[in-house]
Amino acid sequence: MSTAPTLIDHFDRTISYLRVSLTDQCNLRCVYCTPSPLSKLEHKELLTYEELLRVIRVAVGLGVKKVRLTGGEPLARRRVDYFLDGLADIQGLDDIRLTTNGVFLEKYHTHLLRAGVRKLNISLDTLKPERFKQITGFDEFAKVWAGIQLALEKGFSPVKVNMVAMRGVNDDEIVEFAKLALRYPLQMRYIEFMPIGNDASWGRDKLIPASEIRDRIAVLGRLTPVSQKHMDGPARVYELEGAVGSIGFISPMSHKFCEKCNRLRLTSEGALRSCLLSDDETDLRTVLRSGGTDDDIRNIIIKTIQSKPKGHVMDESPTGCLGKMSRIGG
Ligand code: SAM
Repeated sequence: MSTAPTLIDHFDRTISYLRVSLTDQCNLRCVYCTPSPLSKLEHKELLTYEELLRVIRVAVGLGVKKVRLTGGEPLARRRVDYFLDGLADIQGLDDIRLTTNGVFLEKYHTHLLRAGVRKLNISLDTLKPERFKQITGFDEFAKVWAGIQLALEKGFSPVKVNMVAMRGVNDDEIVEFAKLALRYPLQMRYIEFMPIGNDASWGRDKLIPASEIRDRIAVLGRLTPVSQKHMDGPARVYELEGAVGSIGFISPMSHKFCEKCNRLRLTSEGALRSCLLSDDETDLRTVLRSGGTDDDIRNIIIKTIQSKPKGHVMDESPTGCLGKMSRIGG
């Protein structure tokens, strides 16, 4: 039996995780995420589903084991069911995950299950319908909430709810969110606010370090760290006393996890990126559209991994990176 080679970068990190932004478009307009003014890629600028599947297939052949679909809103791209069917056919790819705002889960959950997607991250920054409308621009809280319930009911696992905690915006709900882990078998995850996306909305004063969030949640009970496996990603996970679910923290600002980063990213228009927070990119689309061979794609993937920076410098940069979250894929 042949095994896929291993992708190792200059800092001895094994790269096994590809995050794919299916589209820069989103059905929501989260104030802190959506660039303002909103620019839109033309359809021909986006990689086609065939092109995306080809890159993923080559990456899996090189040793990528886990793929996450993100965006923009991945489920907002037209005929995503067609793409999901293609993904299911890629030999050697057994771990497909999705990050979504949850609005279209009702529509696509059967396609996701059929494609082997079991692991869902659902973004939700407030439990208050009115505030949801203020943050996202749309009155869709009920759909997202129903999407979370449906995901739990249909056996997606793990289901992780991602909240970006922002001081003065939604930090009064930190404890309420943690209570979800008491009631439901989900992982409640708090993400530190990063200076990426809609730059105008970021401010250091809005950043709430994970340590502060943990202290606030402690009113509910003891938090005990859970040991993590390599493929579990950068979250630091805790058991909350009496909870059926768990609590996770993603703290790219206060607790860098670059030394463990195993990620490579493919943007919706076909740029390969070795770090979310560095603007270095390699254009793969031109290669794909000018008769490039699978070997050419392989070489670009390897070259991009060789140039992966040791770590991000976001905490030293007042402006953040220029890339937009929706295009790179958060
Ligand atoms: N549309 C999908 C969703 O809503 O999950 C996927 C894309 S969205 C860009 C992915 C995640 O990035 C969301 O959880 C969002 O809250 C997060 N995000 C966007 N801008 C961020 C920022 N400046 N800091 C931290 N997280 C951010």
